[in-house]
Amino acid sequence: MKTIIEPFKIKTVEPIKFTTKEERIEILKNAGYNPFMIPAEDVIIDLLTDSGTSAMSSKQWSGIMDGDESYAGARSYYRFEQVVKELTSFKHIIPTHQGRAAEKILFSIFGGAGKFIPNNTHFDTTRANIEYSGATALDFPCKEGTDPDYIADFKGNIDLDMLEDFLLKNKNSVPLVMLTVTNNSNGGQPVSMENIKKTKEVCSRYNIPLFLDACRFAENAYFIKLREQGYKEKSVREIAKEMFSYADGCTMSAKKDALVNMGGFLALNDDDIALKARNILVVTEGFPTYGGLAGRDLEAIAQGLIEVLDENYLKYRIRTIEYTSEKLINAGVPILVPPGGHAIYLNAKKFAPHIPPEQFPGHSIVCELYLHAGIRAVEIGSIMFGKYDKNTGKHIPPKMELVRLALPRRVYTQSHVDYVIEAIIEIYNNREKLKGYRFTYEPPILRHFLAKLEPIL
Ligand SMILES: *Cc1c(COP(=O)(O)O)cnc(C)c1O
Repeated sequence: MKTIIEPFKIKTVEPIKFTTKEERIEILKNAGYNPFMIPAEDVIIDLLTDSGTSAMSSKQWSGIMDGDESYAGARSYYRFEQVVKELTSFKHIIPTHQGRAAEKILFSIFGGAGKFIPNNTHFDTTRANIEYSGATALDFPCKEGTDPDYIADFKGNIDLDMLEDFLLKNKNSVPLVMLTVTNNSNGGQPVSMENIKKTKEVCSRYNIPLFLDACRFAENAYFIKLREQGYKEKSVREIAKEMFSYADGCTMSAKKDALVNMGGFLALNDDDIALKARNILVVTEGFPTYGGLAGRDLEAIAQGLIEVLDENYLKYRIRTIEYTSEKLINAGVPILVPPGGHAIYLNAKKFAPHIPPEQFPGHSIVCELYLHAGIRAVEIGSIMFGKYDKNTGKHIPPKMELVRLALPRRVYTQSHVDYVIEAIIEIYNNREKLKGYRFTYEPPILRHFLAKLEPIL
């Protein structure tokens, strides 16, 4: 049989509220043409993010009932600790309320003025926590990773020459190197085992610890199984374990590959660092056996980390993204290739070349997706990352103008995906009608969250 089916049956359903185009015109206007301001109830298919939006399994829900809410030494903590240890082999497992809380603790210890933290590409919260500590966050993505049209298996890799070069000159100011798997800010592209291993070798030469930002470790491991020589016969669990074996620790947002709605952890080997981390944890998050979480959350994470390594699940997950991108490519829609693990990215520069970057082509597509079909996506382009020239006040666009459609895990079925594909193709076929936008309110920082806009008629 060729047909790949969703590897689950649906026991609980959540109705989708349908809206008409007339209603959506009003809703979008009231939201100041900002998708973050649309009430989720008024969205038909919500592809804003894959973070914290997973559907939990019946076993996870029964874990929620079964959670031990004791303050200290809860049974649920020991189960969580055992599952994470078995997977990562790290000695110290420290629960946090989400990924950024683990980052905050890590960089309270390793950050500070004059320090540099290299990564393949830092995620925004990682960068923010590093910069908040006074340190500098550096991105060393591999060359293939910066070209949206270049086809390669592991576009998430770190550029090892740039890393080595930097360490040669600055090793005393680099307390830590990170690798983000998969590389979220670079399109969810995977990192190869070879690249992880070689990064570790470089770090070892300079005696610098390597940490994984492991949010999507299972998706990354599955790509290694599919694409990297020597891994076809290995289980995804074995591959994931090997990935962790090259690291000295990791930060994790359980809202991604642990299939839960809230949670995270910091895991590491070094006893002294772990002691420091737990001392910060008790001030900012909670006692070491619950961190920022309830016992029931720890149960759900433990179960999610087991389920995410089910290869039927990963096959369905990765195939859904691949299927969507094949249909879009066949219809001529410009997307970032090859597709990564958790999202489709439309290339807005090619999709709407008549809209200049300062009139936000990606945003225009995002608005039309909502108006046309009630689909919520997010612009990753000039609104999110555009800057102004200090002297001339002229808009400086980022390298790429993208629209991200992130797929929540286990939430939507193939017909939902077919609906999304149809909507994108219809909008693409009428792309000359897309209009530019301008700000009516422009917030000073992180402007995509609170901005208000209007179409330029
Ligand atoms: C989501 C994410 C984080 C932050 O995790 P939160 O749980 O949202 O705080 C860090 N790194 C990457 C790569 C992520 O995708």
